[in-house]
Amino acid sequence: LEKEMIRSEKLNIAGQLAAGIAHEIKNPLTAIKGFYKLFKLNMGKEFYYKIIDDELNRIEQIANEFLALSKPHSNVFEVHSISKIIQEVKTLLETEAILKGNEIITSFQKSDELFIYCEETKMKQVFVNLIKNAIEATTNGHIIITTKLRDENVEISIQDQGCGISESILKKVGEPFFTTKETGTGLGLLICDKIIDTHNGTRTIESQEGAGTKVTIRFPRVPNDLSPTSIESQPLHL
Ligand code: ADP
Ligand code: MG
Repeated sequence: LEKEMIRSEKLNIAGQLAAGIAHEIKNPLTAIKGFYKLFKLNMGKEFYYKIIDDELNRIEQIANEFLALSKPHSNVFEVHSISKIIQEVKTLLETEAILKGNEIITSFQKSDELFIYCEETKMKQVFVNLIKNAIEATTNGHIIITTKLRDENVEISIQDQGCGISESILKKVGEPFFTTKETGTGLGLLICDKIIDTHNGTRTIESQEGAGTKVTIRFPRVPNDLSPTSIESQPLHL
């Protein structure tokens, strides 16, 4: 019975997602069709191109994000340093942050390097999404990323000084297609959650409207004596 329920739940979610995609793609398609018709009637105007372009990009973005969501596990799980992964994503998003007057500050657990078992590209995708959300919400503020060891878990938090999220909206955050942004897709957190789940991790979000948001994620820690650097430096016993 339990299995049955899980199956029907999954089908339900699949149905909701399919309806969501259809809906999200239908709006830009309707717009494109309308303007195309006007061009056919020789009533096209120069600025229609920009609208059509924007709407096409939107469809492309939705398709791309869904591909990322449905891609099979093509990558390999390996042991990676969490600070190295975060540092690389930070470099990637630095310009975007600076353009909004934001500073990304990292504070990594000092005593010990922390390792997790993960698919590197997927894990980077999680941080890209979360740090992007923080940048988009914040103007002239700090985005503070910390890592620490807590109960044999690696805990990473991304804290911003942005607009925050009201209580009523917080409930909907992470639902497919829920967005408060004009050009948002509402898929970022959904994708993060799926990836975090396949890595046996968890995510929580705390927010105060007008003050900022803190997203905390946790993954099981890989003991340091199993880390790649330690394995490399161990003498071979034949
Ligand atoms: P998108 O970024 O495309 O809107 P997400 O799934 O990444 O989709 O986020 C969903 C919504 O959650 C956002 O539209 C926003 O309202 C809210 N949100 C997520 N992260 C933050 C944050 N750091 N600060 C404020 N709001 C946030
Ligand atoms: Mg987002």
